[in-house]
Amino acid sequence: MLTNNLGYPRIGSKRELKKACEQYWSGNSSIQNLVQTGKEIRKHNWELQKEAGIDLVPSNDFSFYDQVLDLSLTVGSIPKRYHEVILNKGNSELDLYFAMARGYQKDGLDITAMEMTKWFDTNYHYIVPEFLKNQQFKLFSTKLLDEYNESIRLGIKTKPVIIGPVSYLLLGKEKESGFDRIDLVKNLLPVYLELLSKLEEQHVEWVQFDEPFLALDITEKDKEAFRYVYTEIKKKFPRLKTLLATYFGALEDNKELTLALPVHTLHIDLVRNPEQLDDILADIPGHMNLSLGLVDGRNVWKNDFEASLSLIKTAVDKLGKDRILISPSCSLIHSPCDLDLETNEVVLSADIKQWLSFARQKIDEVVVLKALAEQDENALPKLKANKLANECRKTSDLIHNAAVKRRVAAITVKDDQRENTFGVRQRVQCEALNLPLFPTTTIGSFPQTQEVRSWRAKFKKGDLSLTEYYKLIEKETEETIRFQEEAGIDVLVHGEFERNDMVEYFGEQLAGFTFTKNGWVQSYGSRCVKPPIIYGDVHRPAPMTVKWSAYAQSLTEKWVKGMLTGPVTILQWSFVRNDQPRSETCTQIALAIRDEVVDLESAGIKIIQIDEPAIREGLPLHKTDWQDYLHWAVKAFRISASGVKDDTQIHTHMCYSEFNDIIQNIADMDADVITIECSRSQMDLLDAFADFKYPNEIGPGVYDIHSPRVPAKEEMVFLLEKARKVIPAAQLWVNPDCGLKTRHWEETKKALTEMVAAAKVLRESVEEAVTL
Ligand code: GLN
Ligand code: ZN
Repeated sequence: MLTNNLGYPRIGSKRELKKACEQYWSGNSSIQNLVQTGKEIRKHNWELQKEAGIDLVPSNDFSFYDQVLDLSLTVGSIPKRYHEVILNKGNSELDLYFAMARGYQKDGLDITAMEMTKWFDTNYHYIVPEFLKNQQFKLFSTKLLDEYNESIRLGIKTKPVIIGPVSYLLLGKEKESGFDRIDLVKNLLPVYLELLSKLEEQHVEWVQFDEPFLALDITEKDKEAFRYVYTEIKKKFPRLKTLLATYFGALEDNKELTLALPVHTLHIDLVRNPEQLDDILADIPGHMNLSLGLVDGRNVWKNDFEASLSLIKTAVDKLGKDRILISPSCSLIHSPCDLDLETNEVVLSADIKQWLSFARQKIDEVVVLKALAEQDENALPKLKANKLANECRKTSDLIHNAAVKRRVAAITVKDDQRENTFGVRQRVQCEALNLPLFPTTTIGSFPQTQEVRSWRAKFKKGDLSLTEYYKLIEKETEETIRFQEEAGIDVLVHGEFERNDMVEYFGEQLAGFTFTKNGWVQSYGSRCVKPPIIYGDVHRPAPMTVKWSAYAQSLTEKWVKGMLTGPVTILQWSFVRNDQPRSETCTQIALAIRDEVVDLESAGIKIIQIDEPAIREGLPLHKTDWQDYLHWAVKAFRISASGVKDDTQIHTHMCYSEFNDIIQNIADMDADVITIECSRSQMDLLDAFADFKYPNEIGPGVYDIHSPRVPAKEEMVFLLEKARKVIPAAQLWVNPDCGLKTRHWEETKKALTEMVAAAKVLRESVEEAVTL
């Protein structure tokens, strides 16, 4: 029996890599410093895993930005527009790499970055490979070889990790028409073979090929590519121990294909799908070893040793212990680094901490599981301690709240329905709100300046009293209200200055949530997130936003929109309980948000936005599971939105979504108004709404808030005209793409002034049409 790890967090337990990258990018440190930081992190990670007792320690799981981009550079898949960056003498390979990741604006060049998208159903984003019809590949970057050799020099023979050729192609995008990227596999495979032969020269023993697409719906052609690739690899490298890693789902329809591949070892995710073990054991061929993904790489809970041991026993009984590897379910880059760093009991109480396990602890769990499976008596106290901690979690008062459970059980069909249908509501709201045609609004946040953030930091440190802190936020809010009035915006917002983050702010005030000080997880590049942990039944002890919305409303005659984060997004961007279905947790959050919506209404707020930017990313990987998810997710949103009267207008907001395939479900959410990200696609995204004849009101974003560029009025008029062609004027709102919190005031003011002017142009053109 071997212990195996698929990947370790590379950001550094104190985010050392983030800091080093950002310093290098800003020109404040040298490339040598950055390279050195990378080296130290790798050494630290390798040694930590080796010392803990991991037999197969991964290498090439380190990355300065993203492992998919690493591979693009390795196989020389570098889009033409970056070739000038290479030619520019002063640039290193790393500069080219960062140019692909982040764009390049230097030396008179202005090259856009490569696209980024979500890594399966995680919150990690990878850089999307770009493929041309006659795409050629060649071994370009030797990163994988270098890191393997680096580990050898440190006396640790690692297992290089590489994304398999089929998944790599499927992760990419065709940049011209007339071909299918999977056909490129014939061009791509030789580079893998070259790389493997170089590794063999260095006496490599194991190589891990990540092929997560084996747990997805794939075509016959993709399957053929899998057979081709792994047959060729086996032919050329018969002695190589190939570890084929699948995760995030069960093999299901691809089981037969996978078990027929000539690989040495197969890794399966038994956290997501423990039930697949029996199926696989029934059919696994005699030559294949099995890596059991038992320790959850995607969540923060302690492993249940007893449950894992029973799975191990099932596998050992069938295959014998020599064919078994014990592993985490997937790479640990999706886990925070080290629970031992959480020493502040005010942030994370000892009661809850004892239920948790981060990457470093998960490594230990893998090792202890092996010891226990091999009847090592020294490990028995650990089994006992594990049992005790899990038992205590199950029965803890901290988790269970009978009133919350009763309320969820008592939900009826009426609770997710507004009083009347949209048609009726629209008339009532039109009268109550008295808004012009093409009403203007924003998505909620206004610039969170350094200053605003420093107030919060000082308040948290105790250097500002609550009263002083509130005074500052009030002043900022008032100035923002005044600006919006002057600019002529129709529906105002308070600006969200009191919020650190759109999920954390709510989590901090809801029962059932806890936080960490250092629980960072890489989101993309140097960006990390620190998701809250939902550990218990969720409810809202007291109003969360009413004070700020009511204050802002008291300052102005115009409508101020209340601002909430929706239940699905709160769920999606947190670590969630694994002791009840996600849908159950989501419903509890929905009820808490509903309470807030109702309180906002009572406080005189007539327009309330419930943001759901994450609703689409929650879609399961298998299409067959979509409807079940959408059913409970949409219902949760509706529960949160349906406690108000007809004349209260509910908005929702979504960004970066392709809506085509879930447009019916978006309509089912039945928000009175939806604002969406649209400008980067030049309104093409609206086609889904137009084709569907989306009945409610829509605010397609008219400018991209991700760039400091100030768009001219004419550009926005152009986009609005385009929108008007497909959506009736009476249904259209005018707003930016998303919140403005990352922007500066100067550009924000200019852009919004232009936006209001654009709305006026549209109103005038309608008036003209009427008088003609
Ligand atoms: N109301 C939020 C804001 O404006 C919405 C952010 C988002 O969609 N990600 O910041
Ligand atoms: Zn948004």
